[in-house]
Amino acid sequence: MNIVLLGYPGSGKGTQAKALSEKFALFHISTGDIFREAIASKTPLGLEVSGYLGAGRLVPDKLVLEIIKARLASETRGLLFDGFPRTVEQAEGLDDYFSSKGRAVDAVLFLDVDEAEVVQRLGSRRTCLKCGRIYNLLSSAPLKEGLCDADGEKLALRDDDRPEVVSRRLSVYKDQTEPLVSYYKGAGNFHSVKAGRAPAEVTAELSAILARKAGPN
Ligand code: ADP
Repeated sequence: MNIVLLGYPGSGKGTQAKALSEKFALFHISTGDIFREAIASKTPLGLEVSGYLGAGRLVPDKLVLEIIKARLASETRGLLFDGFPRTVEQAEGLDDYFSSKGRAVDAVLFLDVDEAEVVQRLGSRRTCLKCGRIYNLLSSAPLKEGLCDADGEKLALRDDDRPEVVSRRLSVYKDQTEPLVSYYKGAGNFHSVKAGRAPAEVTAELSAILARKAGPN
């Protein structure tokens, strides 16, 4: 099963991807995490992409597709894409790559949430600098202020969750990523889920969709 998660920045893709990849034994591939890790460890890729992330702009399609193909070259598990594809060109690149491998996108899960809700979520999101665990000061605060429940490390506002970068990311989403909704709707395996609810409720609905896809075993 190969799944694409689609939705606004802050719609909950990362949180849902973690839950679903564990539940359905899928390989979770997050281009945002790949880029942030590369930036943190100052690799050549990190140096190349840090300007784009810092400004809330998209990394060029050609580079994104190269990274994805390199990561998937020897992967045989089902895939769960989080933050990719993000443009129609990337979606076409994925379709071409998949058809050369005899694979296909089996479901597109769209996390539907209002723009006002994502602005509020991104401003109150905090991330553990060490393990990447995500908190929200309004809905899922850590037990001790400013510290991760899992490892006690400091929590921080992601660099690109600063208000000036958030507004750029939202306009980039509307211009470049939203057209994917009609791209995938045409393919007939598109599922829209109301995502302004508690994460566990959203996970339950997404899991039911995937369980139906996976069939009765
Ligand atoms: P969010 O969905 O909350 O914006 P991500 O972690 O998915 O967060 O992405 C963070 C940033 O990484 C994006 O703003 C963009 O600069 C870059 N990025 C991630 N995935 C892609 C992609 N598929 N194509 C181009 N740029 C990407």
